[in-house]
Amino acid sequence: MSSYKRHIKRRVKSDEYYKFVLLKPSNILYFLSSIINLCLFIITTFYFIFIPKIDLDSVVFLDYGNKFKYNYKSYYRFKDLDDKVSINGFINNKKVGLYKLKYRVSNRYFTNTRYQFIFVVDRIKPKITLNGNSLIYVCPGKEYIDTGFKAVDEYDGDISDKVIIKKYKDKIKYLVKDLSGNKNVIYRKLIYKDKSKPIININKSTLVLSVGDKFHDREVSAFDNCDGDISKFVRSNFVDTSTPGLKQILYSVSDLAGNVREVKRDVVVSNREIPKTIYLTFDDGPRYGITNEILDILKKNDVKATFFITNKGDDSLVKREYDEGHSIGIHSASHDYSVIYSSVDNYYKDLNIVSERIKRITGMDSRLVRFPGGSSNTISIRYSPNIMSFLSNDLLKKNYRYFDWNLSSGDAEYGRHTSDEIFDNVSKRLRSDRSNVVLMHDIKPYTRDALERIIIFGRENGYEFKKLDIDTFMTNQKVNN
Ligand code: ZN
Repeated sequence: MSSYKRHIKRRVKSDEYYKFVLLKPSNILYFLSSIINLCLFIITTFYFIFIPKIDLDSVVFLDYGNKFKYNYKSYYRFKDLDDKVSINGFINNKKVGLYKLKYRVSNRYFTNTRYQFIFVVDRIKPKITLNGNSLIYVCPGKEYIDTGFKAVDEYDGDISDKVIIKKYKDKIKYLVKDLSGNKNVIYRKLIYKDKSKPIININKSTLVLSVGDKFHDREVSAFDNCDGDISKFVRSNFVDTSTPGLKQILYSVSDLAGNVREVKRDVVVSNREIPKTIYLTFDDGPRYGITNEILDILKKNDVKATFFITNKGDDSLVKREYDEGHSIGIHSASHDYSVIYSSVDNYYKDLNIVSERIKRITGMDSRLVRFPGGSSNTISIRYSPNIMSFLSNDLLKKNYRYFDWNLSSGDAEYGRHTSDEIFDNVSKRLRSDRSNVVLMHDIKPYTRDALERIIIFGRENGYEFKKLDIDTFMTNQKVNN
């Protein structure tokens, strides 16, 4: 042993040294903490060795309406105790709030109890729906009047009254918070600009004019969403009535923002009425025995007439009418009011059958129409109210012309007639100040027998016989349905 080591040994053993070292405060603390650590070690070891365990999250958030899923693990020394756990407490997942569950598990020696806190929460934003568009064009200088909104929260229900509205220059802010503090914000954008076209109100019915007529429409009005009544700014083009035909008037108006609206109205321009003329018109044919003999008389007297045909009779008679220079118009295929006036579709189906027949026999596209019963008939009310108003207008739009009559020969009236009677009816009803459109039927023998006398009478009294064509002045009755 070196002298140095001996010296140290002596120092360690000195009483003075012990006294000095042991009473130092840091040594006392160290000693106490060692005791505590030892105790903790003993407790922990005890816990791990003897107490059954439950592993779980002590705090769980559950969105309301969702099903709560139990999620825990219980064991004791590697032995699964999940089945042995008893759980107490309840959760109402439909109601926001705090719920507590108590878990208990036991082994032979000890029982372990743990608590779990479940917060049923509403984390869904309320919804705001705007009435009207989210982008609104507001008339310049006008104030926007809110068209309304609705706020609904899945949990709280209708919370429209909780919406806070803030108006900015170019938008409106809608903010709403539900009772759980979830908030939603939406905006309605405002653009101060007139984007809408004005509206022009015109009489939509087809206008019927005669060559040379001057027309100024005074019934037109126009309204703009921002500028109000702008009727006085409506412009329309000049209707050219120098020639007959189907034409249009174009109306246009512009609002202050430059939005232009245009609407069109159809116009039929016909030739002017010619006084001292007779238009012989024959409906419901052809019929062999009558039509062919009528054609003979017309040929002999060099008179041109108009035949409004059906779907019956020989094609050869229709061919002959055409070849001999008469006009052929469309009457009706079925001539059954209950069918043709049952609907617009059915009317046109019937019309097309005759139209196609004429086309097939003559190659010609007839534009002349005579309504069964005339345009003024009221029998059609039984089948379709207003159908005559519609059809009489619509036919013109489709570039047909319909012709009624202003002189009935009476040959289709109820009862038996004589040729004298038919002649009297026509000769007495002729008027020299107008076009006389004479209604006759080329299925009646007394009409056939009166025809030549009518022609002679007309000629002797200075009348000219003519056939109808697309440009002829339309002698029409007043539509009553
Ligand atoms: Zn008829």
